[in-house]
Amino acid sequence: MNLNPRPVSTASKSVVVQSDPLADNLQPRTKTLSAQDGLWRLKNSVLIRNILLGWFFSSPRLVRLGIRLLDRTAHSKSELLNPDRNVLLRGILKPLLYSQFCAGVTKQEIAETRNLLLSVGYAGIILAYGKEFKSSDAHSSNANGEDAELKHWKDSNLETLDMIGSEDFLAVKFTGAGQKVTKAMMNNESPPADFRQAMDDICQKANSRGCSVWVDAEYQEIQSSIDEWAIGFMSRHNHERALVYNTIQAYLKSSRVTVQHHLERASKGGWHLGIKLVRGAYIGSDPRELIYDTKRETDTSYNSIARDLLSSSALAFKLPQGSFPRLNLFLAGHNPESISTAWELAGKLEQAGILKTAPGFGQLHGMGDHISCALLQRAQTLAKKQENTDVRVSVPKIYKYSVWGTVQECMMYLGRRARENSDGTDRIKDGISVYSNELRRRLLRR
Ligand SMILES: Cc1cc2nc3c(=O)[nH]c(=O)nc-3n(C[C@H](O)[C@H](O)[C@H](O)COP(=O)(O)OP(=O)(O)OC[C@H]3O[C@@H](n4cnc5c(N)ncnc54)[C@H](O)[C@@H]3O)c2cc1C
Repeated sequence: MNLNPRPVSTASKSVVVQSDPLADNLQPRTKTLSAQDGLWRLKNSVLIRNILLGWFFSSPRLVRLGIRLLDRTAHSKSELLNPDRNVLLRGILKPLLYSQFCAGVTKQEIAETRNLLLSVGYAGIILAYGKEFKSSDAHSSNANGEDAELKHWKDSNLETLDMIGSEDFLAVKFTGAGQKVTKAMMNNESPPADFRQAMDDICQKANSRGCSVWVDAEYQEIQSSIDEWAIGFMSRHNHERALVYNTIQAYLKSSRVTVQHHLERASKGGWHLGIKLVRGAYIGSDPRELIYDTKRETDTSYNSIARDLLSSSALAFKLPQGSFPRLNLFLAGHNPESISTAWELAGKLEQAGILKTAPGFGQLHGMGDHISCALLQRAQTLAKKQENTDVRVSVPKIYKYSVWGTVQECMMYLGRRARENSDGTDRIKDGISVYSNELRRRLLRR
């Protein structure tokens, strides 16, 4: 999977590589994704919005004000501050912010977003319903005594599955299922029977449509329950393929032990493990002592877990030789060094004939577009290279994660994206210069 793959005949797997494929793959390379590659894929409007929002997010004062306004809007009961009711507010928020990070409100808008992604080379979309619950929201039941929050969550996820196709992912947040489910997670209980049934129904529908289901990682108070519950769903639904994926947050000091636990359970149960690896998004609210002290340590954790999973290293995870389970790995993130390192390692392992599964890569809708475009360009170049040869290498699949819902329903999600963007000022400045160069090139028709 490297940009200049040495021809490898599929007939012969005994390819000799000159160097140890694992050596020197932990430290980020200086050579990284070429930021200007593949930007033709961005529409003019997206390019201009990326530049405008980049400027906005590089000003700490503006960002603080913006986040305060977003939080106020997300949690207010006032009709005036509800963008679904206030046409003027919606007129500002929808084109400027919502459309940057979200797939759409109506089925037609969502289909257009998905079609656009597919038309420029993405393998698919990872789609989530954007409405989130606050822990203070009152619990409600309907006339039949059914858990109304759980029903709404289940119906929305089933509806989301109707909007995506095979190869796409449905992303679910367990806390979205409401107060009763969140409380059970906080108390380290087993999943309530009606929640288990709802997830089983979602998984069965996803399977019949050829999609997969991502369980998002959340805050630490409930994350060990999410892990255990997700393992339960994987053990029930992952016999043929990795239908369900769980998320590992590499910024946690415990992340490697958690991966090891997942591997052991999959190995013992004989099922297919699905892992989505992220750095982690709750550094601002989770207990700081559970998270690595420095960004560098988090980077090393992410890169080393990616390396050891890609190379199916039983030794690295203290598993008995030969017991490494079947694994599907998805590398989610916007860090170009981590992406490049993993891409190059996967290529080397494939050349050596020892890559068990090609990783998927994904970025958030509206973030890291230049990184996604560079990845798509690499994948396209790789696919073209093998068109007229007998070289067969796996071409990585690139995805975008997006949410759908009304503008008001997506406000809490938008607030998190605003916070995350305000943390990555250097990356944003890189982005502005890349997008500005592309805009200049288009204006001058070069
Ligand atoms: C497709 C996709 C799905 C995602 N799903 C989830 C999910 O389910 N759950 C979730 O929690 N997050 C999720 N995230 C968000 C992710 O965890 C990161 O917050 C985000 O991607 C930024 O990290 P990065 O890997 O892109 O790289 P970078 O921008 O290089 O890293 C930033 C990250 O490094 C870590 N970090 C920063 N400073 C420090 C420090 N001083 N000490 C230690 N660590 C530090 C934090 O995790 C921070 O978010 C997802 C991201 C993507 C792209």
